[in-house]
Amino acid sequence: MRESAPNHAPVEEKTYCAVHTDIETALRCNRCGRYMCPRCAVRTEVGYRCRECVYAHQGKFYKATLCQQIVAVAVVFALSLVAGFIVPRLFLLGALFLSLPAGAAIGELAWRAALRQRGRYVPQLAVVAVLLAALIANFGTLSEVLRLIALADRLPHGVDIGAIAFQQLTPIALYAGLCALAVYGRLS
Ligand SMILES: [Zn+2]
Ligand SMILES: [Zn+2]
Repeated sequence: MRESAPNHAPVEEKTYCAVHTDIETALRCNRCGRYMCPRCAVRTEVGYRCRECVYAHQGKFYKATLCQQIVAVAVVFALSLVAGFIVPRLFLLGALFLSLPAGAAIGELAWRAALRQRGRYVPQLAVVAVLLAALIANFGTLSEVLRLIALADRLPHGVDIGAIAFQQLTPIALYAGLCALAVYGRLS
């Protein structure tokens, strides 16, 4: 006895995008398995997925409640007021070496305050909070520099406004930039 071989080649079935039903495609979502055209496919770290699966995944990714998000941003703001006051006053070296650790610590505490849940807009709002707090904590210095600039032509000779402004503003700018970067990194 001989096994009967299939007497015809398998017909190649045409498959179409689940959304754009006139577009032929062989690409499938690796999560739900539906067919999707290149326009519908979203590239993720784990392969191509359909938009619905990506959105569903993002919904699970950002789980912080509104209250937790507010707490996280408020913690960042409060701690940044303190760090923003201290770090730029440790001059350029202090700002250079302490801004990133300060930002990482602030981010970590805010992360814990938010019960270790991600919020969709928390990283961006945290950056705004860091910058705003830096502005407030250094308001005296900033307004003093602005006042000097406004008085530039009435100051005695030998007073180098540029050098003063640079010396005063660089630690603040350095701190604000690095701290915001670290906070953003921790919360995103
Ligand atoms: Zn899918
Ligand atoms: Zn499509």
